[in-house]
Amino acid sequence: METVAPYKEIIEVIKESGGDAAKYCFQCGLCDTVCPWNRVRPFSVRRLIREVTFGLTELESEDLWRCTTCGRCPQQCPRDVRQIESMVSLRRIATEYGVFPSSVKPLRTISASLAGEGNPLNEERGKRAEWAQGKSVRTFTEGTEILYFPGCYLCYDPRLKKVAQATVEILNRAGVDYGILGERESCCGESIRKTGDEELFRTLARQNIRAFIDAGVRRVLVSSPHCYHTFKNEYPEFMVHFEIVHITQYVAELAAAGRIELNAEFAHRVAYHDPCYLGRHNGIYDEPRDLLRRVSGLELVELPDSRADSLCCGGGGGRIWMETMKGERFSDLRLEQALAVGAEVLATACPYCIANFEDSRLTLEMEGRLEIRDITEIIRDAMAQAG
Ligand code: SF4
Ligand code: SF4
Repeated sequence: METVAPYKEIIEVIKESGGDAAKYCFQCGLCDTVCPWNRVRPFSVRRLIREVTFGLTELESEDLWRCTTCGRCPQQCPRDVRQIESMVSLRRIATEYGVFPSSVKPLRTISASLAGEGNPLNEERGKRAEWAQGKSVRTFTEGTEILYFPGCYLCYDPRLKKVAQATVEILNRAGVDYGILGERESCCGESIRKTGDEELFRTLARQNIRAFIDAGVRRVLVSSPHCYHTFKNEYPEFMVHFEIVHITQYVAELAAAGRIELNAEFAHRVAYHDPCYLGRHNGIYDEPRDLLRRVSGLELVELPDSRADSLCCGGGGGRIWMETMKGERFSDLRLEQALAVGAEVLATACPYCIANFEDSRLTLEMEGRLEIRDITEIIRDAMAQAG
């Protein structure tokens, strides 16, 4: 029997935009029980999915933009409803019609910066490699073993540049044959795609693919799990295949092969936070932990909600660019969890997590009680007395 719905046209558009699996939902509500939003405010992805099925979604609703694409609910869904695809399909429609509620307004500036300068931070493309000055970083040329692709936040954000710098200190110390593309690198496009701007994603992806092919790149080393995810799982849609390695995997290999020596103490209690796009979306849970366990003096403690059940930092799905009200930030909860297990350092491996955690650390006035570190910063410090 055909579904009788008042907005049949909308159903068709949702279908074309990738939200077809919504029809398999039988409204069990398991998704709502795991969604992190329900820890800070009421939000029902189940209800949104039901509205999608009938083409009844209100496009101007803030709820359309809440999903951080954390991957928790698809993991639980008994009907493989692919909630993320449905949310993205709704955003595609809203983007097409230009309907943005107030918390989503910053997206316009972000898109303009991505289209014009290849980054979401309103920075000049020409300054993309400034973080590397004085760090003995070469430009990638044909025959270089691996391309290091730091991504936008590590290139421009003052806090995150330190992560890119720690990374190249490790690579240099290990004698890795790597190079960067500098201003030929563009945003990977992962997050703008999740906001529904498919066209801009495709433009950015093509720019990177062209730059990789022109330079003769085969292997790409990334710091951001978002770059990792899109290069590995989404760029193949363009019929290209590069070997993608996340920095935690790569440094774990360097350490196992004895190419870096971790001979300085890092005597701290460290909790590791699994970024959604490294863990849940790509199954990388062990390498970051193995790496931290190699550091002498470091005591690794587990957080509640870890590994496949990790609590989202709130930055995925383009939420990093949207306003999240005080009292509704998942990152605040994560910092409280870290303090509750007695951690002195909250370590992670994703620029969005670090940006959100640093923000929460300031607003919750936790400076002096908790430090936020990328794993590469810890490893770099643990190598301090080498050589
Ligand atoms: S878990 Fe899946 S089947 Fe159950 S309500 Fe959510 S989307 Fe529907
Ligand atoms: S993917 Fe995550 S944030 Fe999005 S609806 Fe599911 S549980 Fe909630």
